[in-house]
Amino acid sequence: MQDLTRTQRERLAAQAVRQVVRALQLPPLRVEVSYRDDQDNLGTNGTELEYERVAININVSDHKTAADLQRTVIHELVHVVVAPMVDVAQDLASADDFQQKQIRRATERTVSALERALHPLIFPPD
Ligand SMILES: [Zn+2]
Repeated sequence: MQDLTRTQRERLAAQAVRQVVRALQLPPLRVEVSYRDDQDNLGTNGTELEYERVAININVSDHKTAADLQRTVIHELVHVVVAPMVDVAQDLASADDFQQKQIRRATERTVSALERALHPLIFPPD
């Protein structure tokens, strides 16, 4: 992965996005992907269900292996799958920081567990 050019990394990420979108059966037209190098995050997600807009960003520079990159793609797209539940939880919870923080932590734990479980299924080891 270290020896790949930026274009090769973006191609690898785009291929992973197509594979994960297909595996999770997300409607591909709604998923916008960018490949900016975010200083703080390997991946980010800007799902806005009320506008039917899904935008994820994959930081292609800071991944050490192709498997790491694939896992980030799975992680961000699993956020899209659980977004309706998270939206409901956030609407029902009070606006206080504690409850919102609990929801964020539970969401990350759930998304990370699904990321670990799905990776070998979507990208079977050779
Ligand atoms: Zn996350």
